[in-house]
Amino acid sequence: MAALQDRGNGPDGQIARHRYLDILHEFTLRQTGLTTLDDIVWNIAKTAIAELGFEDCVVYLLSEDGFTLRQVAAHGPKNPVDREIYNEITIPVGEGIVGHVAKTGEVQCIADVRLDARYITDDHFRLSELAVPITHAGRVIGVLDSEHSRANFFKDEDVHLFTTIAALASTRIETALAVQRLESTVEHLQKARLQLEQQADELRESRLAAEAASIAKTNFLANMSHEIRTPMTAIVGFAELLANGGATGEQQSVWRGQLTRNADYLKDLIGNILDMAAVESGFVSVQEEQIGLQSTVADAVEVLRARAEAKALTLHCSSRGSLPAEVITDRVKLQEIIVNLVSNAVKYTESGTVGVTLSAERQGSLAQVSVAVRDTGIGIDQSQLSNLFVPFSRVHDTERLAGIEGTGLGLALTYHFVEALNGRTVVTSRLGEGSEFTVTIPCGVPDDVPWSDEAISNPFLRSLSPSTAVEPSLSEQPQSLEGFHILFCEDSEPIALLLHTLLTKAGARVTHCLNGMTGLQLFEDLVASGSTPDLVLMDMQMPVMDGYQATGHFKRLQQSVPIIALTAFALKEDVERCLSAGCDHYLTKPIHAATFAKKVREFHDGYREQLGRGNS
Ligand code: ADP
Repeated sequence: MAALQDRGNGPDGQIARHRYLDILHEFTLRQTGLTTLDDIVWNIAKTAIAELGFEDCVVYLLSEDGFTLRQVAAHGPKNPVDREIYNEITIPVGEGIVGHVAKTGEVQCIADVRLDARYITDDHFRLSELAVPITHAGRVIGVLDSEHSRANFFKDEDVHLFTTIAALASTRIETALAVQRLESTVEHLQKARLQLEQQADELRESRLAAEAASIAKTNFLANMSHEIRTPMTAIVGFAELLANGGATGEQQSVWRGQLTRNADYLKDLIGNILDMAAVESGFVSVQEEQIGLQSTVADAVEVLRARAEAKALTLHCSSRGSLPAEVITDRVKLQEIIVNLVSNAVKYTESGTVGVTLSAERQGSLAQVSVAVRDTGIGIDQSQLSNLFVPFSRVHDTERLAGIEGTGLGLALTYHFVEALNGRTVVTSRLGEGSEFTVTIPCGVPDDVPWSDEAISNPFLRSLSPSTAVEPSLSEQPQSLEGFHILFCEDSEPIALLLHTLLTKAGARVTHCLNGMTGLQLFEDLVASGSTPDLVLMDMQMPVMDGYQATGHFKRLQQSVPIIALTAFALKEDVERCLSAGCDHYLTKPIHAATFAKKVREFHDGYREQLGRGNS
C-alpha cells in the first residue's frame, strides 16, 4: 500500500477518494487474517491510521468492569518502538473527549481543543481531535482517537474513514475479547479441575489409609486375641494340672517351666503394647546413665540364648575394633532394641547362625556405637523393606509365617527407640538368604573412660554382669525382707495371695487389707499402737477408696513411711499420677516373682539412705 504521508491529493489536503478505498480495502483484507486482540488493535493503529498520515492515533478499550478506558495500541509519539506504548494512561468513562465518546457513543470531532474544557493532554498538547466509538451490538467497547497539532485538521472524510475502520474492526475486536474471556474461563476451569482432582486424590488416599488402618486394626485384634489366648490357655492348663497334684517331680518341673515361659511371653506382649501406646501418644522419654558397653549388649543378647538353642541355632557374638569401656546412653532402650532384633533373627531363622557384632567409631567426645544383627533366615523381599517399621504390619504372607507368632510391633518400637536416641537403622536382606539389621547410636563417652581393642568374642558370656548372668529362682531368693513389716492394700484376691506368698517367702511380716478405707483404719491403728509398718504397697485401682486417695491420707498421717504404687498402667502419665498422689515409687504389674522382693528391698534401702542424708 502506498503511504499517504502526503495528504495533498485534493483541495485542503484532503485524501483522494480512491486512496480511501485503497486503505479500507487493504485494511479489511489484513484484518481477515488476524485473530488475537493484540494483532487486531495494533493493525488498526500501525497500518490503517499510519497510512492516513495522521500525526497520532490511540486505540482505547473499555475495561471489563466498564468504568475505564485503557490504551491498547498507538501510532505516533505514543509508540516509540514495536508494540510499546509510551507513558500509558487510563481514562475514566465520562471524562475528557475520549471518555465522553465511551459514555455516549457519539463521534467527537473538535476543531480547536482550546475551546473545549474536556480536553486532556496526554503526551503532547495538540489543537484538533477526532474520537469515534468502537461499538458492538449497540454497546461501546472502545474508542479510536487521533489528535493533530493543526486546528481544524479533521474533515468529514476523516470522520467517515475513522468511523468505518472502527465499525470494520469492532466485530473482530469483540470476537477476540470473547475468545480471551473464554480462554480465561477455560484456564479457571482447568485450575478448578486440577484442584478437584487433587482433592479427589487426597480423599482417595485418606480413604485408603483409613481402610488400611481398619484392616491393620482388625488384623491386630485377631492377632492379639490369638497372641493372648495361646499363652493364657497354657497358663490356665498347666496351673490346673499342677493344682490337681499326683504328677511326678519331673512332670511338675516341666509344667512349671511352661507356666513361667508363657507368663513371661504375655508380660512382654503387654510391655510392647504399652510402649507402642507411649510412642503413639508422642511420648518416648530417654533416661541416660553410664553403662558398661559390652556387658549391656551381652546381657541383651543372652536373653535369647535359650530360644536360639531350642532351635539348634548358633548365637554368635563378637566385637570389632576399639570400643569404649563405658558409654552414656539409655540402657533399657538400648537393650530393648537389641532384644527385639535378636529375637526376630532367631524367630525368622530355621537353621544356621544368628550373629551380633558390636563396634564403635570415635566422633569427638562421642562414640557412634553400632550393633549389627545378622541371620541366615527367611529374608525379606526388597519391596517390603519400607513396610518393616509400620506398627502391626507383618511383611510376609501368612503361609510363610505359619507357626511364627508375632504382632508386628517389635520393629516399629525398635525404630522409634533408635530415633529417640538420635540413631539410625539400616536393613539389608535377601529373600531366602537372610537379613542384617544395623543400628547406630551416638553415645557419650566420659573423659576418663579408656577405649580398648581387647576382642570380646564368642562366647560373650564372660562380659555378662553378675546380676543378669543367672537370675536366681524363687527358692534361691535371698531372704531380703527379713524383719520387715509390710502393709499392702490390694483388692484382687489372686494378686493378694501372690504378694503375700512372695513377701512372706522373703521373710517379711505382712498385713493385708482389701481397699484404701480399711487400709487407712489399719494404718491408723498400727501407728497408734507403735507398730508402724516399714513400707506400704498400694494398689491404685480399688473399690471404696482408691490408692490415690488412700496415699494422701497415709502420708498426712505418717510422712516417713514409704509407699510403693502397684499399677497395671505403665504409661508416663499414670506413673506421674501415682507420684503426684504422694507415692514414693512405683512397680508395674505384672510383677516378676523372682525379683519382686529384691526390688522392694532395694527401693526401701535407697529411700532410708536418702532420708538419713536429708536429716543429717
Ligand atoms: P513381629 O515379628 O511381631 O511380626 P516385627 O515388627 O518385629 O513384628 O517385624 C515385622 C515383620 O518384619 C515380621 O512380621 C516379619 O515379617 C519381618 N521381619 C522382621 N525381622 C525379620 C528377620 N530378621 N528376617 C525376616 N523377616 C523379618
